[in-house]
Amino acid sequence: MPIFVSHCEDSRNQIRNEGNKIIKDLWQNRWNDSKNERRTKNLIDKVNVDRLYGDFCINPILTTHGVFREHQARFFNKTSLCSCGQETGSVLHVITECEIWTSYRKNWPSGWQLMGLKDLTNNTDIRISLRGLLHELLIKELDLLSSFSETNVSRH
Ligand SMILES: [Zn+2]
Repeated sequence: MPIFVSHCEDSRNQIRNEGNKIIKDLWQNRWNDSKNERRTKNLIDKVNVDRLYGDFCINPILTTHGVFREHQARFFNKTSLCSCGQETGSVLHVITECEIWTSYRKNWPSGWQLMGLKDLTNNTDIRISLRGLLHELLIKELDLLSSFSETNVSRH
């Protein structure tokens, strides 16, 4: 019977090894998924928190938080390069320089280039167009984030 026993031992070890491998893979997948979820959750929580504290669109400009890539790169391990590919996606760049958002600045009062961020957001006309800009930026960034998560999940 020793041959049978050793055969059994081998099978059991094989099963155990296979089982361990499957469990390890499952853990890895769950870990990866939870990391993606946490990233998404962080961004969405941030948005909700801003919404609670009054003007959720203008607030990120003043706090330099929210959907700006410079901030996201620091906290979510993403690229800080603006989607225009020219500069860091800082608040100042997106609001006052980036060519993607030129159309939002076309009706701003003359001399706005000399205004600071606080004065820009205090100007009623500029404030309205900044709301539109930030809303569009937010949707763009959330789309990117969800497509990033989907690619990661489908890779498993
Ligand atoms: Zn840009």
